[in-house]
Amino acid sequence: MDQSILVVNCGSSSVKLALYRTTDTAAPIITALAERLGGEGARLRIEGEKSFSCEDAMDHSQALATFIEECQDYLQDLVAIGHRLVHGGEAFHESTLITDDSLAELEKVSVLAPLHNPMNLMGIRLCRELLPDLPNVAVFDTSFHQTMPAQAYLYGVPYDWYETHQVRRYGFHGTSYRYVSAETARRLNRPADDLNLIIAHLGNGCSACAIRQGQSVDSSMGLTPLEGLIMGTRSGDIDPGLLEHMMRESGSSMAELMTALNRNSGLLGLSGISNDMRTLLQHEAAGEPAAKRALDTFCFRVARQLAALSSNLSSTDAVVFTGGIGENSADIRRRILANWRNIQFRLNTALNQANGDESGRISETGTPLVLVIPTDEEQMIAQDTLKITGL
Ligand code: ADP
Repeated sequence: MDQSILVVNCGSSSVKLALYRTTDTAAPIITALAERLGGEGARLRIEGEKSFSCEDAMDHSQALATFIEECQDYLQDLVAIGHRLVHGGEAFHESTLITDDSLAELEKVSVLAPLHNPMNLMGIRLCRELLPDLPNVAVFDTSFHQTMPAQAYLYGVPYDWYETHQVRRYGFHGTSYRYVSAETARRLNRPADDLNLIIAHLGNGCSACAIRQGQSVDSSMGLTPLEGLIMGTRSGDIDPGLLEHMMRESGSSMAELMTALNRNSGLLGLSGISNDMRTLLQHEAAGEPAAKRALDTFCFRVARQLAALSSNLSSTDAVVFTGGIGENSADIRRRILANWRNIQFRLNTALNQANGDESGRISETGTPLVLVIPTDEEQMIAQDTLKITGL
């Protein structure tokens, strides 16, 4: 059996796992998804060279233990584990080996991402417990954006909020942007550090990023992944004044309003139907105005953000779509670009429907280049894990 690497993405009610051979990080040999952990209807599904599924009352630890037991033949030569961490604060500019010291440092960063980091850290702890003696590596969603200049990462608030409380814009989805920008360079046969890109990562979480000569110079997400674009259930940009207004008008507490902005807003809140793009497109096609309202607002806001980000670039080599929506919805891509009115994008209808030619291109030759490039954050995490552990 070849040596292998495990990639772990531990969220609040789910664990996603991907097992790679160290000799080939392009595609995993086994993937697993454990969902609804700690609640009703918990389930684990393993796919690939090993397949298994069960529905059982499980928490994160039990799901991981079941995966380890079911896949033991494939884990004999496991040599390292890579973990997705949402927030690395300013302390972590790049992926890092987990030690007792770095774990203590990571604990401190958790205040910046209380919804995400504690779950990611639990994944690390569980692996140290269930798979002892293996190196663990943390790969951060924020680290790629540490090249953002102060003018892009500062908020217009008292400066000591930054100095004392680390209040600044960090940006997220960085692992995806790192992968997509490298893949764009490869497909265009250009050096990555030569490319100026606007990338829209549109999935359940949505953000956009301006890349100047291979480096992130601005992103739509901020202190937390709530800022920026309208997302599945997250509001994106709001006037903070609406919090006080809603507290007064509805009697809601700050905690209730934050839950509403994180879980009941975005496409779900605007439509009252679903947070899922496919479902909304179906409802819109069936003539439901609430679905159209949500989608029109979503596309308008994405276009506005992309146009704003492009002001960072003297010229844009390509606009790139990625993430579940960005990779799969020809209609949403078309509507976003139609809202970006000061640039004459011309999509090739057939290429857009096909989600791109072999280079990912969906625009007509000789017009501003638009690409669809599927992201692969797990592959990046596997590669960083190999690099950092020196395997
Ligand atoms: P996550 O951010 O959780 O990784 P994904 O990147 O998988 O999520 O994106 C999920 C979103 O992609 C959902 O809104 C889903 O409806 C949308 N999506 C997936 N396939 C399609 C499709 N063919 N057309 C439109 N939307 C799609």
